Amino acid sequence: MEKTGILEREYPDSSKKCPECYAYVSADAKVCPSCKNRIGKRTAYGMADTPINWKAYIVCALAWLTLIVYVKWAFF
Ligand SMILES: [Zn+2]
Repeated sequence: MEKTGILEREYPDSSKKCPECYAYVSADAKVCPSCKNRIGKRTAYGMADTPINWKAYIVCALAWLTLIVYVKWAFF
């Protein structure tokens, strides 16, 4: 019986796709060699997960906190 193997060739277990530049990278790569972005684990669709950007998260939270404190200080 002939094996088509189209899906295996399209989404091989040993590679994943970078969510930033869509380049195929090794499944255990933590940084994309093409665009140097941090990438996470391989998902079910053969894409790499985007890790949470904690730095941007904290900066955003601090900006909101500063705004709230400023508004309270300025108007109350
Ligand atoms: Zn990339």
